[in-house]
Amino acid sequence: MIPYSRQKISEKDITAIVDVLKSDYLTQGPKTPQFEKIVSEYCGVKYGCAVNSATSGLHIACLALGVGEGDIVWTSPISFVASSNCALYCGATVDFVDIDSSSYNMSAIALEEKLILAKKKGNLPKVVIPVHLSGKSCDMQKIHNLSKEFDFKIIEDASHAIGASYKNQKVGSCSYSDITVFSFHPVKIITTCEGGMCMTNDANIYNLLLRFRSHGITRHAKEMERKPDGRWYYEQLNLGFNYRLNDLQSVLGISQMKKIDSFIKERNKLASNYNNLFKSTKINIPKTDSEIYSSWHLYIIRINKDEGFNRNIIFEKFRNSGIYVNIHYIPIYRQPFYQKMGFKFEDFPESEKYYNEAISIPIFPGLTKDQQEKIVSIIFNPIGFQNLF
Ligand SMILES: *Cc1c(COP(=O)(O)O)cnc(C)c1O
Repeated sequence: MIPYSRQKISEKDITAIVDVLKSDYLTQGPKTPQFEKIVSEYCGVKYGCAVNSATSGLHIACLALGVGEGDIVWTSPISFVASSNCALYCGATVDFVDIDSSSYNMSAIALEEKLILAKKKGNLPKVVIPVHLSGKSCDMQKIHNLSKEFDFKIIEDASHAIGASYKNQKVGSCSYSDITVFSFHPVKIITTCEGGMCMTNDANIYNLLLRFRSHGITRHAKEMERKPDGRWYYEQLNLGFNYRLNDLQSVLGISQMKKIDSFIKERNKLASNYNNLFKSTKINIPKTDSEIYSSWHLYIIRINKDEGFNRNIIFEKFRNSGIYVNIHYIPIYRQPFYQKMGFKFEDFPESEKYYNEAISIPIFPGLTKDQQEKIVSIIFNPIGFQNLF
């Protein structure tokens, strides 16, 4: 079986974890601050707050920006449900902005149109969450300009995009956003088994993130409401959570960060191999953009019925051949939980079209050129029953 993505763990990763197991701290020791520093420096951003998943990170990112009841949050429908659930956790309502037909990210044009309408109706979003699908940055310059004009905050869901760049800056630099959130789930670019990190340049936001990550508690005297009773003293100021990343996970993250550039380089090589293999076929391959360096978490092809292909049949052919392709994603508004909120499929024509055509084919460090050739050939091999007639 070839999965669409998987982790790459080395002997060095394993040794690093075993060393932490033998040390004094399994959690809340030195490894998490070290990991945060390494990722922050890598991205060129001031602060990093490690969390036990990107889902937790998105949740406390919303809370740190003051999202609550009565607020509205917009995101892309072509994402994992966590991108919008985070707003619902805070009691806010969610709406979606349709995708761009060539990048499959939130369309900046659709966003502007929707903002103009919302301004007239008086229901502007407090926060917009662009998602860098497959590791390819959204049009952040445009979205950032709109945030100034229409007064909203930005959380980048960069779960796919650690190691990617936009206009020669690393995703995670927060040059165009308030907070950027990474995921370290095993299928993503680097892994801590489960885990994530919130990046920001804003000291106040950073303090709130730290507080929400650990029960809403502060140990800094200057943030407290009362004078400390003694050295044991702490205060709970908000309703927070236990969203901490432990030291075993952080040391794996530190070890994985040593290889991130080689991972991204290999993913870029694999993507360019696929581009060559699909050249002069009718398969729609991902568009590239000179201002964007993708981390290539996913390689998404689109199979258009008008070209004589059937996406669902090709999907079955892959799965029957042991190639664990997938579809990223079922539009969030199609989920029964979201359907109860009254979303209509026809309000998102580009997302609907995408959902009917897309397949993510395998891409991960360690995938071989032979495997890539086999994968591509499966699309064009005649299937059994067609040979009978
Ligand atoms: C994986 C993913 C998440 C959730 O990440 P976890 O670390 O598993 O919580 C959120 N958004 C997107 C776009 C993702 O791909």
